[in-house]
Amino acid sequence: MLFALLRAGLKDEVLRSNTPWICVSCYHCVVRCPQNVHITDVMYTIKAMAIHEKNFADTTASDFSETFVEMVEKYGRSFEFGLATRHYLKHQPLRLPGMTGMGLGMLTKSRMSIMPKRIKNMTQLTAILDKAKKLELS
Ligand code: SF4
Repeated sequence: MLFALLRAGLKDEVLRSNTPWICVSCYHCVVRCPQNVHITDVMYTIKAMAIHEKNFADTTASDFSETFVEMVEKYGRSFEFGLATRHYLKHQPLRLPGMTGMGLGMLTKSRMSIMPKRIKNMTQLTAILDKAKKLELS
């Protein structure tokens, strides 16, 4: 459906579709595509365009994505506890108590940290991200 909308040039419908936001970047489609279409890249491009143009039907997924990027830029990696907490407080506060058990389980099994941990060579990552942003703008 998404590719039919793309072929028809229905840009707003494409940007407002929730399909790209459901993509989990597993790359299964890329590996299996007989035409070598880089579908995951298409999904990323649509998401980036939707964020850039602030053109989406629902801000839940785009907010999650922007928070994730913000944390990677700040710490060099994802900070799951902060990401999940911020997401649920903003978009689904009533579901937050129901997530407590899973969160505590992950914390006690050291699968998640309560404090963010910055990577060692943050300067190098920042330089890479800055270069990527410049390339994106050119
Ligand atoms: S990478 Fe491809 S197969 Fe995987 S979720 Fe995204 S669109 Fe679907």
